[in-house]
Amino acid sequence: MKTFCGRANPTTGAMEWLEEDESYDYHQEIARSRYADMLHDKDRNVKYYQGIRAAVSRVKERGEKAIVLDIGTGTGLLSMMAASAGADFCYAVEVFKPMANAAVKIVEKNGFSDKIKVINKHSTEVTVGPDGDMQCRANILVTELFDTELIGEGALPTYEHAHKHLVQEGCEAVPHRATVYVQLVESKRMWSWNKLFPVSVEAEDGEKIIVSPSEMKNCPGVPSVCDIQLNQMPSSDFTILSDVVTMFSVDFSKPVRSASTCYRVQLETVKPGKAQIVLSWWDIDMDPSGKINCTMAPYWVKPTSALQWRDHWMQCVYFLPNEEPVFQGENVYLTAYRDEYSVWYKLQKAREEENKADVHVESPVCRCQAHLLWNRSRFGELNDQNRTCQYIKSLMKVLKTDSACLCISDGSLLPVLAHYIGAKQFLKANHLEDKIKILEARPESLTSSHLEDKKISVLLGEPFFTTSLLPWHNLYFWYARTAVTMHLASDVTVLPQSASLHMMIVEFQDLWRIRSPCGTCEGFDVRTMDDMIKNSLNFRESKEAEPHPLWEYPCKSLSDPQEVLTFDFRRTVPQHCLSAEGSLNLLRKGKSHGAVLWMEYHLTADTSVNTGLTQISNDKGNCEWNPHCKQAVYFFSSVIDAETQADLPSAVTYAINFNPKTGEITMDFKL
Ligand code: SAH
Repeated sequence: MKTFCGRANPTTGAMEWLEEDESYDYHQEIARSRYADMLHDKDRNVKYYQGIRAAVSRVKERGEKAIVLDIGTGTGLLSMMAASAGADFCYAVEVFKPMANAAVKIVEKNGFSDKIKVINKHSTEVTVGPDGDMQCRANILVTELFDTELIGEGALPTYEHAHKHLVQEGCEAVPHRATVYVQLVESKRMWSWNKLFPVSVEAEDGEKIIVSPSEMKNCPGVPSVCDIQLNQMPSSDFTILSDVVTMFSVDFSKPVRSASTCYRVQLETVKPGKAQIVLSWWDIDMDPSGKINCTMAPYWVKPTSALQWRDHWMQCVYFLPNEEPVFQGENVYLTAYRDEYSVWYKLQKAREEENKADVHVESPVCRCQAHLLWNRSRFGELNDQNRTCQYIKSLMKVLKTDSACLCISDGSLLPVLAHYIGAKQFLKANHLEDKIKILEARPESLTSSHLEDKKISVLLGEPFFTTSLLPWHNLYFWYARTAVTMHLASDVTVLPQSASLHMMIVEFQDLWRIRSPCGTCEGFDVRTMDDMIKNSLNFRESKEAEPHPLWEYPCKSLSDPQEVLTFDFRRTVPQHCLSAEGSLNLLRKGKSHGAVLWMEYHLTADTSVNTGLTQISNDKGNCEWNPHCKQAVYFFSSVIDAETQADLPSAVTYAINFNPKTGEITMDFKL
């Protein structure tokens, strides 16, 4: 079946109808999925296997048959572990059809077809009885339904249902329990992802401070979890205010309740500071004794044990609704509220009456709109005073008192900055009454009356658009600039005046794993899964670059960075393609896992903002990246798939093409 899906092209802004194969979504789902990353998670796999063996033994010691229910079987891995451990029969339930099909193949290939029945259903649809999906209830419940927040993928309702309908009372569960830990911290860096800080502007008549409106200051933000690779956050970027404490745990071997509830703990602060952030992670005990433990604890908590890198489980950053000053040794009460799928936190200084624990405190809802418009990294970017200085410096150069400015960017502070610096007229931004006018028109439908018959003398953009996923999607600014050409004065200044696309070849410390085939996992042949991912990656004719925030994923440069394309915003978007071919010499030893691409915006002739590589920090080639932006990563599958390190190439040749009609940048590499 073919379907047509309408979408706005993120770069050109044009509405386009794409013919989507119905399999498109699931190819995307598989290609970008975390299955490969999970299969590479050695620590997880080993501990599941130990836990499953122990559970099967306990059941057998009681003289019972071991009947396993594996909910969310994926590749069938945990069921195959159970069958190998001596389980008599496994019911492997998987809701996602392509995965269930893969599980059937993998189970067969590994010779377990007589021991494992794959059921392509959501677990809540599974029936038990002589004619049902399962002959009888299971006495071992195995699952891996957790996300970084533990419960975000619906583990609680699934367990609740399974205990009621699918497993025996007193069953064994692997994992046996999960525990959520918290630690209270102060962190200007992380707090800057949730609140807009005052912005200082050095204008001719002295320093001015732009402050955010009070509804923004007091806004609790959005409930979506902020999950990051906390192990990449240097300890200098936060101050620990409390010990690590257990917030709550869930025993999966007993009936589980998914209904909203709350948990309260008392904390004694270990330092004075501002309580702003709750850092949180969990661990799972695979057996009742807690000897087989798989933890997401960050580096400073368990400094002795080797950290397992993984991307499918990270750590959570929760923003308290307001920052709260605390002194050392103060007793404070932290409450975790949760519904079926998410968790949020509140800090109180005095103990509320026991029974008043208000379970029904609602999850945070943004009241100021800003949290709906700006995501966490955008907040961080707007709070970056260095970046703001670059814009101020450039605005000072281009603005005159009689400038008529038009700003094209989503939720930008540029108009406010420009106003404070002294532009008289401003035609797009927030408030500032008669000085700044917000035009609710798309660039192509702008009329002279919107502009009060003035010609624009300064056209501004950061550029930033909420629809951008890849770095070059912000080239929408160029298209918008082209659309408003007739409103521009003949001597218009465009800021930024141009942009450039840069590229570098890198070796990733870990990120390559997410695109690397697995072969065998704990002795089980999962190549069917590898093939399936490969097939999905190739589903689109051209392989695509994908966005990743590289500050979270260490890598080293193997080549010098190179400018590959430039885009001149002083002119309109050209009719012809822009293309570049060349080669990058490899200067260091290492595996060329891929190319990283990013944009630089040249505000004026001598001031630029860089959304990518900020520094190569040492002679090993370790890279530092703009912490507020995602960069584009193009993985070289030939290198990642290679079993052994073949002869290292000395150069990578590239061909890059920008098609102005589609706004797309395509690329091809040869090693
Ligand atoms: N067990 C595998 C895969 C875990 S990923 C492993 O450990 O490697 C979780 C899988 O569970 C996904 O494939 C998802 O589609 C599936 N899933 C989640 N909730 C489910 C439910 N209630 N019923 C059936 N499948 C579910």
